[in-house]
Amino acid sequence: MGKRFWDYLEKWRGLFPRRKNLRWRDGWLQNGYCGGCRYCCGPQDSNEPFPMALLPRQLHPRIEKDFCMLNADTAYMDGRGCKSCTSKGCGLPREGRPVACGLFPFVLINGNLYVYKTCPAILFTPLAQLAPLGLEAARWLTSFSHEELRHLSLDMSPAVLAEKYISLGIQIFDENGVNLQLR
Ligand code: SF4
Ligand code: SF4
Repeated sequence: MGKRFWDYLEKWRGLFPRRKNLRWRDGWLQNGYCGGCRYCCGPQDSNEPFPMALLPRQLHPRIEKDFCMLNADTAYMDGRGCKSCTSKGCGLPREGRPVACGLFPFVLINGNLYVYKTCPAILFTPLAQLAPLGLEAARWLTSFSHEELRHLSLDMSPAVLAEKYISLGIQIFDENGVNLQLR
């Protein structure tokens, strides 16, 4: 999202006068805000590619029908939105969607778990409720191998992290391997 934080805060306040529920379930965040928001899958207001790593089992010869591809095993979305976004939501079965789609607004960056701060679910859910959900997601992520996690994790500069994300103080892996730690 290239738009400014305060613009989104005002927009989401108008759309969501009451708090919605969030639940981590089977590797997917059930997020009561998504139906009214639908920002994630459609056209983004930035043309900077947002990478979405794919697992080997999700790759197939016609993958470019489903996604714009950054490289052989990483899809991306930008100002055009995701190729698999339809008027009824995601057109792919759950197992075909990038891991990032089920996690968002939790985001694995530089081996640690962050939240995307302009998502309405993040703005309106107290951090004390978000953190345990993040921990559930983090425990689920530790079932991936170190190599898979390195593939799934975004590389991001400190400046972009500070502008767009909030740390949950949860490390999933470091250079030595999968290593869940709370900070
Ligand atoms: S920004 Fe948040 S609430 Fe909106 S669609 Fe994405 S995850 Fe759902
Ligand atoms: S794969 Fe589906 S859930 Fe993921 S960004 Fe594309 S449309 Fe959205």
